[in-house]
Amino acid sequence: MDGREHRWFMLIASIVPLAAVLGAMVLLWNSVFHWSDLVVTLVMYVISGFGISTGYHRMLTHRSFETYKPIRYGLATAGVLAGQGPPIIWAAHHRKHHRVSDKPGDPHSPHLDFPPGFKGMMAGLWHSHLGWLFDTKLTSDPMRYCPDLVREKPLRWLSENLLLVTLAGVVAPGLLAYAITGGSVQALFTGMLWGGLVRIFLINHVTYAVNSIGHYFGRRRFETTDHSRNVFWLAIPSFGEAWHNNHHAFPRSAHHGMKWYEVDPSAILIWGMEKTRLAWKVIRIDPERMEMREAGVSRVSSASADKRTLLESQQKIAPMADRTAEGESLVDVE
Ligand SMILES: [Zn+2]
Ligand SMILES: [Zn+2]
Repeated sequence: MDGREHRWFMLIASIVPLAAVLGAMVLLWNSVFHWSDLVVTLVMYVISGFGISTGYHRMLTHRSFETYKPIRYGLATAGVLAGQGPPIIWAAHHRKHHRVSDKPGDPHSPHLDFPPGFKGMMAGLWHSHLGWLFDTKLTSDPMRYCPDLVREKPLRWLSENLLLVTLAGVVAPGLLAYAITGGSVQALFTGMLWGGLVRIFLINHVTYAVNSIGHYFGRRRFETTDHSRNVFWLAIPSFGEAWHNNHHAFPRSAHHGMKWYEVDPSAILIWGMEKTRLAWKVIRIDPERMEMREAGVSRVSSASADKRTLLESQQKIAPMADRTAEGESLVDVE
């Protein structure tokens, strides 16, 4: 899939679900809604959400854990159902994002080349949310950023058959609704509308909000070289992705929620897979290293002089912690 095809796909995958949301609202207003619509929307949201968070992001892009091939490609396929394009291109853009986060070359930073003030903020948020996907200059060469993934034939197959697999994710909830309602044709169509298209709209905007809001509003626990933030209210709908400052501090960690109260559904799934021996080589961050990094810098907005002194005294230590990650290969870092 070349850049032009990718842009067309993203355009269709953005506009059609938006039109479907409007259509679904009109139907809802006229009381055309089945209980099965809620069921299939939830089921498909969970499948495609884990596909993006656990599959595309933590497993493929950051190699946070390993699993058996059927599960690996099952998770990648679940990610395709979200309508965010092929896994190889998604991973290439995202590895590039980590490499030059909020610096020139970042595919979706809300902070680059936007004028100060409200207008610039809105332009930056729009660009990082969805606008970047339609940028004609957008390139993240998969051969450079994810040669490891390009080598995997099933992932290339998903790229080549992207439209077919994405459409199957629209038809499937309709068939499920048809089955659970005992053969209602109306439920078949509204199931496709809700569980297929409205659900794609929801999961996409939640994922994109991590790129926009997650680099703008929220709290910073770790001093990172970018503007990443933890956005608590997005954590559950994004399956844990919204602990984005934690993630930028420790990109390879399988756990993005790093405190007991930071709910991280993807981490729970990976933990469950590990316990049942379906996942191994799960990347965890040494608590001591995490504490050191956290103690080194307070939250940016409330850094006291004392803490700054502490930071300065620990700067000899912090870069070393970074170097541990950066000493790994390009693929490993991101
Ligand atoms: Zn980010
Ligand atoms: Zn990432």
